[in-house]
Amino acid sequence: MAGKDDIKKERFTSEKEDLARLNKDLEARILELYSLYNISKVLNLSFAVEEIFNGTIHEIGKTLKIDEFCIMLIDEKCQELAIRAWYPDPGTLPDVRFKIGEGISGMVARTGRPAIIQDVSKEPEFLFYKGAITDIGAFMCVPLLGKRENVLGVFNVHKTQPNAFTDNDIKFFSEVAEQVAIAIEKAIIYEKTKEASMRDELTRLYNRRYFFEYLEKESLRADRYNKNFSILMLDIDHFKNFNDKNGHIKGDNVLKQMAQLIGNKLRCSDVVARYGGEEFIILLPETQKKAAIIAAEKLRKAIEDFKYEGGENQPEGRLTVTIGVATWPDDAAFTSELIDIADKALYLGKKQGRNRVCSKDDMQLKKDEI
Ligand code: GH3
Ligand code: MG
Ligand code: MG
Repeated sequence: MAGKDDIKKERFTSEKEDLARLNKDLEARILELYSLYNISKVLNLSFAVEEIFNGTIHEIGKTLKIDEFCIMLIDEKCQELAIRAWYPDPGTLPDVRFKIGEGISGMVARTGRPAIIQDVSKEPEFLFYKGAITDIGAFMCVPLLGKRENVLGVFNVHKTQPNAFTDNDIKFFSEVAEQVAIAIEKAIIYEKTKEASMRDELTRLYNRRYFFEYLEKESLRADRYNKNFSILMLDIDHFKNFNDKNGHIKGDNVLKQMAQLIGNKLRCSDVVARYGGEEFIILLPETQKKAAIIAAEKLRKAIEDFKYEGGENQPEGRLTVTIGVATWPDDAAFTSELIDIADKALYLGKKQGRNRVCSKDDMQLKKDEI
């Protein structure tokens, strides 16, 4: 019965082959799960969004064995997708933005459903990042969804050859995108909470605690690079009188308006904080005393010229401020001493008649006069 044996043998061989294939698939799946585990482990170590990108992009790229991918997140301020991470070379990150609904990424952001385009040359909606990246054959865009199915951004994978994505790729990349989305949502919440805890509620300026942290860091940085920086301590003149004459609500409005005015008059790199009730403190990086006094004088003048409602009820007929200036490292060896010097200079300005700028040099002059 050679024929029966042959059939048995054939069946056995075919089963063996099936088993080998299954085994191979299983091995590949185990490897994928292991990779996924590794990616989520690295992702979970990150608190901030930038940290996620800096620390895990390479791990993801290596694990997924893809030529190129990018992560775009929705910029809440303008409701646009902006590229935040680019693999393999973050240095080549193109400055491209998509409106929600624009191009494939914009469409995925709108619908929250993934899109796979096996041959982008046949897809008129594909924009090649507005012409910035042209060597893409196949493209996959998976939404990054938050807990409430809200779209945080998209995860885009590129392959140079058309038809390069397998069904398994699609499944696996979606699983990775899910992990990335969980980490990003956590990081966004963390950043928002941190940011809120550093802001003053009334003026939205940084608070005193943030300022001290920043001052400490800036003093170390200035020492390392042999640089100066200055601080301005600003106090509204006769503000008690303003409140008494105009009421507390108008007083609060003045604080808000003044915070805005100060922010508008300074450089983006300057740090403005609400130091106390009607006191503001400002750090001017890389600024020597002479330049700091000029900046303070400009600020003083701008505040004096601004028409605050109720300002006419002030002793001088307008709302004014006095500013104390101190410069690192010229005036102090410790940050607490620097604050103290700015405070003393401010006090001197008050004593000399208010609505002026004073520094340690004026204090020394005063001593010499005595
Ligand atoms: P000086 O020119 O010496 O600084 O006089 P001043 O009246 O500004 O100083 P003083 O320290 O006597 O009073 C500060 C006043 O600032 C007391 C309070 O009425 C007012 N103030 C402090 N914080 C707030 C605030 O958050 N809102 C309002 N509306 N007023 C505040
Ligand atoms: Mg005060
Ligand atoms: Mg005051």
